[in-house]
Amino acid sequence: MVNIAITGANGRMGQAIARVATSIAHISVVAQVSRDNTFENIAISNNIDSIETVIDFTMPEPSLKYIDYCVQHKRSMVIGTTGFTQSQKEYILHASQNIPIVFAANMSTGVTVLSKAIRLIARTLPNNTEVNIIDAHHRHKKDAPSGTALQMGQVVAEARGQELGEDKAICFHSIRAGEIIGEHTVLFTLPDEQIELKETVYSREAFARGALQAALWVSKQPPGLYDMEDVLSLKTTHL
Ligand code: NAD
Repeated sequence: MVNIAITGANGRMGQAIARVATSIAHISVVAQVSRDNTFENIAISNNIDSIETVIDFTMPEPSLKYIDYCVQHKRSMVIGTTGFTQSQKEYILHASQNIPIVFAANMSTGVTVLSKAIRLIARTLPNNTEVNIIDAHHRHKKDAPSGTALQMGQVVAEARGQELGEDKAICFHSIRAGEIIGEHTVLFTLPDEQIELKETVYSREAFARGALQAALWVSKQPPGLYDMEDVLSLKTTHL
């Protein structure tokens, strides 16, 4: 059994995680942390000692605060929050020297597997192939391009042996409309043909299931920074 705390418990993802957790064996939600119900309040109810893993889907600033809490109390972490700056990402990397952290901009199985296909195609096509990455999300989403789109761009750039910022053949386009949960399309455009890869998430439960799977996995790991390819054991497959 792994005892988890959910931060951002009132948010869209926090609620989805709590809902899905009820159907997963070996997971027990022992604390739901929100702006009003902080770790300090929970400490009074004594639940705090039983927390093993914190699942965080909030905003970059509170997320860093929760990371400090986990380092201080030696708890493992699953971070799904997006929109971190480069220096905030370095802070997470530094924290992972002390605690195990799964950090992934997209916890769905579909996007994790798609990233491997993107890497293979990017490695195979000429390095100057034009790549357009389109993300579509609900109108409440704060960051654009999405963390997933940036991660996909990073995969293409790395496969071509470049830094994301210096690869001018990778372009991002963001649509913010209605209540779209998450769509990512990657276009590899050659002179007379085009490859189109698309992943659509129909329910936040796809992210929630991934986050809970990550929580089960990370609670047994030594300190380090991990991603969903580690959780799903995909690092060893040859793509
Ligand atoms: P949301 O706005 O519905 O929820 C955000 C939560 O953060 C709320 O509960 C809010 O109260 C809390 N929060 C905001 N500021 C806070 C503060 N200062 N202190 C404490 N709590 C604070 O957003 P959401 O749709 O649930 O998404 C949350 C994050 O997760 C976003 O960064 C989003 O991009 C990311 N996300 C990641 C994945 C993934 O698979 N990794 C999937 C979906 C969303």
